[in-house]
Amino acid sequence: MANLLWLQGGACSGNTMSFLNAEEPSACDLVNDFGINVLWHPSLGVELGENLRKLLRDLVSGAIPLDIFVFEGTVVNAPGGTGEWNRFAGRPMKDWVADLCKAAGFVVAVGDCATWGGIPATAPNPSDSQGLQFLKREHGGFLGKDFTSKAGLPVINVPGCPAHPDWITQIVVAVATGRTADITLDEFQRPKTFFQSFTQTGCTRNMHFAYKVSATEFGQRKGCLFYDLGCRGPMTHSPCNRILWNRQSSKTRAGMPCLGCTEPEFPFFDLAPGTVFKTQTVMGIPKDMPNGVDKKGYIALTAAAKNAAPRWAEEDIFVV
Ligand code: SF4
Ligand code: SF4
Repeated sequence: MANLLWLQGGACSGNTMSFLNAEEPSACDLVNDFGINVLWHPSLGVELGENLRKLLRDLVSGAIPLDIFVFEGTVVNAPGGTGEWNRFAGRPMKDWVADLCKAAGFVVAVGDCATWGGIPATAPNPSDSQGLQFLKREHGGFLGKDFTSKAGLPVINVPGCPAHPDWITQIVVAVATGRTADITLDEFQRPKTFFQSFTQTGCTRNMHFAYKVSATEFGQRKGCLFYDLGCRGPMTHSPCNRILWNRQSSKTRAGMPCLGCTEPEFPFFDLAPGTVFKTQTVMGIPKDMPNGVDKKGYIALTAAAKNAAPRWAEEDIFVV
């Protein structure tokens, strides 16, 4: 039996919605099959008022052991470092977070806001938001870079906007069943099992990428979304085309470019009109290259690929 508490800071509830749609395993499986005791969750918790405050105090004091603390949303520090813009159960949420992180066996940050600050922490960041252990790419965040939970691990970051439901539940199960030795983290504390490969891995448009056949509109059933529509699949660490959404699709399969939501810089660029869903270029060359490819190599590769493209690469690949 592992006690789990889930709280929400500066959040839109997207990761809660995602979690409630989990299938492999589902939120119910966590309770029924894996013995996880959900002490409280913003959408599932039944305790209110003084009962909830007492539960939180007991968790902080250790009277009730807290095995897994899951946090969704940013840590809001405004105004002036007080955290008063995000009060919860009688005090600033950031104070609960600080105390509960000290008391917890494991701390799991779900979604971009909790991991790196996400959209709320984008300049000018009026809520003075931070992720638990990062602010964008900068290590430290709210808890500081040396933080480790009682079990000796840093915050386990499960990013995404939102995170895929099964990434969340599978990590919770791994922690609850003592399989943390299987979880190796990358430099941004993301579990490698999910975040070592790129969104592009498993993308059905890979052949169009290779032959430089471009999709020019959303939903087009052929062509790669990298050359015109700003797809970040080749430089974004995520398994979106390996662990499919609703078990059957992904953004790129539906003809929508990957926005790179699992990377600390999300959202990229300045979000001014014309910068989203448009490949940013300098003299015709994409500003951001596929990981590991330099500009010279890219020019040589794409020129050769375009010349070598077979006629079928221009055909609609989704023949239903
Ligand atoms: S750039 Fe995007 S659409 Fe093109 S192959 Fe990669 S992931 Fe798929
Ligand atoms: S495809 Fe890209 S934008 Fe979409 S969820 Fe995956 S990583 Fe995020």
